[in-house]
Amino acid sequence: MSPEPSTATTGKNIGEGLTMTTEQIWEAVLARLSEKLSRMEFHTWFPKVQLARIEGGGAMVLAPTDMHRNWLSSKYRGIILSNLQAVSPQVDQVYFDTDLSLSNAPVAYPALFEKQLSAKKIRHEPTVRLQEGVESRVLSSHLTLRNFIVGEENRLAHAACMAVAEAAGKEKKYNPLFIYGGVGLGKTHLLQGTANEVLRRDGEAVVVYTTAERFLNELVKAIRQRKTDEFRKKYRRTDVLIIDDVQFFDGKEHAQDELFNTFNDLFEGQKQIIFAADRPPSELTGIADRLRSRMGWGLTVDVQLPSFETRIAIVQQKAQAADLLLPADIEQFLAANVRKTLREVENLVNQIRAEVELTHTPPTLQSVSRILRKLNPSAPLQTADEAKRGIARNTDDIITFIADYFGIPATDILGTSRKQQVVFARQLCWVLCRDVLRMSYEQIGEDFGGKNHTTIMHGVKKIHQQLESDAHTARHLHAIKADLGVK
Ligand code: ADP
Ligand code: MG
Repeated sequence: MSPEPSTATTGKNIGEGLTMTTEQIWEAVLARLSEKLSRMEFHTWFPKVQLARIEGGGAMVLAPTDMHRNWLSSKYRGIILSNLQAVSPQVDQVYFDTDLSLSNAPVAYPALFEKQLSAKKIRHEPTVRLQEGVESRVLSSHLTLRNFIVGEENRLAHAACMAVAEAAGKEKKYNPLFIYGGVGLGKTHLLQGTANEVLRRDGEAVVVYTTAERFLNELVKAIRQRKTDEFRKKYRRTDVLIIDDVQFFDGKEHAQDELFNTFNDLFEGQKQIIFAADRPPSELTGIADRLRSRMGWGLTVDVQLPSFETRIAIVQQKAQAADLLLPADIEQFLAANVRKTLREVENLVNQIRAEVELTHTPPTLQSVSRILRKLNPSAPLQTADEAKRGIARNTDDIITFIADYFGIPATDILGTSRKQQVVFARQLCWVLCRDVLRMSYEQIGEDFGGKNHTTIMHGVKKIHQQLESDAHTARHLHAIKADLGVK
């Protein structure tokens, strides 16, 4: 697939330009903590805490007093670490120190704490104020950008939505924004989250979230009742128009014409437009060229199935939202078995909760397996360990995969070629054998034609060094791990 010129996408190259600063990392961690901790805890302990730096795998967190530091270190170390890791996977340790100057410093991320500071100004349950009152029913206030769990697979889409929400009313950089991806990967959540975020920031904004299907039905009804003028007016006075599942417009010429004109009007008026679909604009072949090309005028981003670790966080979040306390092994087991769409997560959590309530016994791996099997009888269940290893079960799997990824013969990787790309591919295989299969250098050496373990060690070290200095290597390794379904 060749992306259209103006679209910045996707998949393997999303790493580019997305390195986060320490501030951004800490802001993302705080956003996550604000969802996980009680409001009281969050507002008591976190407004004046800062992330000083991340070096190697260590993150240094600063607190304004010694007492504060001790408290964080004893009570919140785990949750800070796990959320730091979710945002910045290289972190494996958190250290705490005191920085007395923080006591008098202003709150660094007021937006995150403003719920308390100015509780009255923030609208918690925005409603879309349109005369018909229809839109407010489809917009769910539970879907927000804050409770959207961010992993590599959806980071760009989430960042784009955030940027769009922040820019509402200002100059539009990403217009239109087009999000695509398979069923149940979070498109609707992002779209509705953006609508909610725009409204949270500006209660006066006119935001319409609708689906292509509803748009069409409304149009048909308007035509029947001879009210197309009203229909047009309604859509053309929006500040932000969001249309979900636009693949539904396939072959619906009349609706496409209407949308085309609406689009032109809004675009000229500098209003934000957001679309989501199950595929990129270039593949929406049932949509007229002129509309399709406009859909790709701005930023096109995809969402993919989150990694196992991110899925755990999503399970945790949905469980928490349902007031269900799940032991870690069950969270992992659920995450391991949600492999195509995240739609099941909520359903699973609700079923588990119902069972817990009815039987008054905590969930077990057995009871959860039963529910999983009932929901999806044909899918074989996977353990968390299997999920961590993804599709790489042995050295051969890894070699085949890497050979395929770089488009070079597996025999070259196993051979003695010194060509740069082959050497790189070979060393990446070793790294994966270490990281994913937990093999010893000796074992790896054996599987690679009886190489000495020091050769392997040297190669692995070289890749690790490159990871520090060369974004290219990091991007490849990340993309490979994502495709293998491992962290
Ligand atoms: P799509 O529109 O792509 O088919 P949805 O947005 O309806 O998918 O997502 C399906 C379910 O998964 C919803 O319950 C949604 O809240 C949840 N979900 C998807 N991605 C995330 C995420 N990153 N964080 C939290 N929940 C998510
Ligand atoms: Mg959807």
